[in-house]
Amino acid sequence: MSDDTILLAARKALSGLTMPDGTPFLGASQVSGPTVSNGRINVSILTTADAAAALGDIRAKAEVALRNVPGAVTAFVTLTNDKTIAPVLKPAATAKPEILAGVSHVVAVASGKGGVGKSTTAVNLALGLRANGLKVGILDADIHGPSLPTLLALHGQPRMGQDRRLLPMQSNGILAMSMGLMVDAETAMVWRGPMVMSAITQMLSDVDWGTLDVLIVDMPPGTGDAQLAIAQGTTLAGAVIVSTPQDLALIDARRGIAMFKKVDVPILGLVENMAHFTCTDCGKQHALFGTGGAEAEAKRLGVPFLGAVPLTMDLRAASDSGQPIVARDPEGQLGRLYIDMARALWANLTASYPNTQTHKKL
Ligand code: ADP
Repeated sequence: MSDDTILLAARKALSGLTMPDGTPFLGASQVSGPTVSNGRINVSILTTADAAAALGDIRAKAEVALRNVPGAVTAFVTLTNDKTIAPVLKPAATAKPEILAGVSHVVAVASGKGGVGKSTTAVNLALGLRANGLKVGILDADIHGPSLPTLLALHGQPRMGQDRRLLPMQSNGILAMSMGLMVDAETAMVWRGPMVMSAITQMLSDVDWGTLDVLIVDMPPGTGDAQLAIAQGTTLAGAVIVSTPQDLALIDARRGIAMFKKVDVPILGLVENMAHFTCTDCGKQHALFGTGGAEAEAKRLGVPFLGAVPLTMDLRAASDSGQPIVARDPEGQLGRLYIDMARALWANLTASYPNTQTHKKL
């Protein structure tokens, strides 16, 4: 079905709705859209922080109406506010959304800046947790640079389940969902903090994750509003911070640690990535970015150090092939390293939450 046909049907579906003040939804000045791209419908409602709560109902109604539009692949109606996000946030201590009741722990993998190997770490830790017998899902929340579709060779569109919730995809024995499968890159590029948060909380609640021991969330890089919003809005059990040994990256990592501590999310571990380079010709290890910095820093900050991952071509090649190193070569040196780090992560998690029960892995 063409986007134009879907757009017409989407407008029709919204035509009966009204804003809380009685004006027609489609005619309201703060409503942008609907837009349709590859069957994905997006609408945004501009609001102030104070008015956001009052718009929750109409947002949900509009979304339900759009989901029933024939041919619609996904439908998102987001509240957006460029200036402040605070009142849109749920307080840090809110209970897990009912919908995530089957997920024992949501764990964020974060980094202070992009390009340090956060996604590579997230996906290999997820596979490492699975190798330790756990049932695992991974959500790629890196809206501006989603890499999970490549890392796990996810193709096509997620399917809709019976209750019109999306079914996560399966790859290498874990469940996976990526913003990259839902929203096209151009739409996501212009999203700011509140829209990012609103989209991610919807990804958590609109996807049928079923029962999981751990849901890994590959966070957007950095420590801005969007990250803080996710940390507060998703009831995280803990966070893993990824850093390269460079001083600059460590400063960023410290910022990340401080952010999670501020919202009372325990740091379950620090992973040092691209720690050293093993020369394929001479076999010697070269510490390109200095050595031991992350471990010393972890000790100084009182956070667990999970391990140091070398810079290697193997890791990169495996990631590019859609079969991450833990899936491709679990017995190899790197595979074992990630599986060991995942075991340490799980130990830290169950130490923080001693009543944890485990599920049967996929
Ligand atoms: P981020 O999520 O922090 O942006 P990615 O995980 O996408 O980072 O990694 C960025 C690039 O670096 C990717 O091409 C990835 O394959 C590569 N990479 C990550 N970690 C390593 C490593 N230890 N050795 C070699 N290449 C790596």
